Amino acid sequence: MTISIISHPDCMLHEMGAHHPECPERLSAINDQLLSSGLDFILQHHDAPLATRQQLCRVHDVKYIESIFQKSPKEGQVWLDPDTSMNPHTLTAALRAAGAVVLGVDMVMAGQSSAAFCNVRPPGHHAEHDKAMGFCFFNNIAVGAAHALQVHKLKRVAIIDFDVHHGNGTEDIFREQAEVMYCSTFQHPFYPDSGTRNTAAHIVNVPLAAGADGQAFRDAVKLHWLPKLASFQPELILISAGFDAHIEDDMANLQLLDQDFAWVTGEIKNIADKYAKGRIVSALEGGYALSALGRSVAAHINALLG
Ligand SMILES: [Zn+2]
Repeated sequence: MTISIISHPDCMLHEMGAHHPECPERLSAINDQLLSSGLDFILQHHDAPLATRQQLCRVHDVKYIESIFQKSPKEGQVWLDPDTSMNPHTLTAALRAAGAVVLGVDMVMAGQSSAAFCNVRPPGHHAEHDKAMGFCFFNNIAVGAAHALQVHKLKRVAIIDFDVHHGNGTEDIFREQAEVMYCSTFQHPFYPDSGTRNTAAHIVNVPLAAGADGQAFRDAVKLHWLPKLASFQPELILISAGFDAHIEDDMANLQLLDQDFAWVTGEIKNIADKYAKGRIVSALEGGYALSALGRSVAAHINALLG
């Protein structure tokens, strides 16, 4: 059982201001926890490559991709929405973040690694077909899913998203594409105010009320996700791994604990072992309470190890 961790120093250089919660220290907090827990030494480390325009084009509008390249500033900061901005390193970091998921997919498909965790930023699940928003530029997990369909010729890819926010971008991209099942739990009502409708059998949106705890989350996963995943029989599972539903994270109001992230990872792994030859690629989305983030990622990776 080999687990890879895919990251790149470029992902630390993207910054959106001194007090922005989506900060480079998030990756350091994860790295520190992996080191102190001893996990770091049993993971295979890989550098994230840059995603190519061809890979991005599978899920994003060509003109939108061009606009992100053109807006990339030589100096200073350019704001794309009230909480999403680019500095001179953002474009490269965003390309690495999407490229990490592509590399993870290639590695698990080749059997080089049973699972991979992409320790990258900026996150991706709010990025729509032609729109950057909510700290996201390119939809990293969607780029990986499209790569799996097109290059590895898979017919059924599942994306699991337990970030506290609904992944409006991922739903936007795959709404009409039944080869990709999207399962999401998220606080509702809450940013970005999407996900209240299950528009098709392959879109499994499960809103949770503010204050919902780990038991409510587990009940929702057991009731809504697991039967759908078992009938879908995914050949590969991708995880939009956001840890901002943690009780210590004041970005939102859910009350999950480290062990809830371990539990859901174990359930996903059971499905992957049964239908997908164990293949899982997980990519960091949210998670802003640094200590809780580091611990929760360690619990997540431990559960991937089994
Ligand atoms: Zn989030």
